[in-house]
Amino acid sequence: MESVSILNADLHCHSVVSDGTMTPEDLAARAAANGVELWALTDHDEIGGQQRAAAAAHAHGMKYLTGTEISVTFAGETVHIVGLGFDADDPRMKQGLEETRGGRGARAREIAAGLAQVGIKDAYEGALKYVGNPELISRTHFARFLVDIGACKDTNEVFRKFLTDGKPGYVPHRWASLRHAVQWITDAGGIAVIAHPARYKFTANEEYALFTEFKAHGGRGVEVVTGSHTAAEYVKYADTAREFGLAASRGSDFHSPDESHTDLGKLPYLPGQLTPVWELLADRIR
Ligand code: AMP
Ligand code: MN
Ligand code: MN
Ligand code: MN
Repeated sequence: MESVSILNADLHCHSVVSDGTMTPEDLAARAAANGVELWALTDHDEIGGQQRAAAAAHAHGMKYLTGTEISVTFAGETVHIVGLGFDADDPRMKQGLEETRGGRGARAREIAAGLAQVGIKDAYEGALKYVGNPELISRTHFARFLVDIGACKDTNEVFRKFLTDGKPGYVPHRWASLRHAVQWITDAGGIAVIAHPARYKFTANEEYALFTEFKAHGGRGVEVVTGSHTAAEYVKYADTAREFGLAASRGSDFHSPDESHTDLGKLPYLPGQLTPVWELLADRIR
């Protein structure tokens, strides 16, 4: 029998319901065309696209897992926790996500005020033009606006020059706690997964604390193969998964054909000798 690792699963991407540029339906079509067999849409702090995504997945013959990517504050940094296979009607989960989205409007106004200080006017109104979901204005929408007015050549440059710590459009923000995010997902029947761990600017001790506390709260997975990791980081986090007894996930983190360097379904397979998250979620796959 083929190893269960050999499955074209893509369990991380974004639609217009958060900061992606494609609809759930168009993403499903693209995933299927790229050979994805098991798919999850994981919009930031939002599950409003889940029904559409599941229906579109089924129309294209793909299996589907519910998904979201929750913004969490841990040790003063923003960490992303992907939830997979939860009940999308769970009231506590819905309320938790709503609270997490809550501060985004005020934060966006502060981002715009910071940008105004360096001569970029009306960025709030500008960013809003790119927003598909009024509850989910994100830094990505500001980045698209700044590229379109010619302030930077691409969104990466916008983040580097304007939207990260110490830059004029950076606003520190308090998201959900790690404990709550893991609990919401787990209590709704899903599993919590640490997203793209190589992206956080943690010391070795802080990273160890993240994984230890995540496990203690009931977290069960880690992204090993993601569009945010290098090949060396696949190996590193495969080791971390084994060390902490976590299942491994795979996802492109696709946002847009113009911005994302990793397309849906185009990542390497998971390394062997890891438990894929979809093995733990067999009874949640639709
Ligand atoms: P927010 O949730 O509003 O803080 O926005 C975070 C989003 O910005 C992430 O999910 C990414 O899509 C995007 N992002 C973060 N850092 C970068 C970067 N350096 N370059 C491009 N996009 C980024
Ligand atoms: Mn994003
Ligand atoms: Mn993320
Ligand atoms: Mn993401």
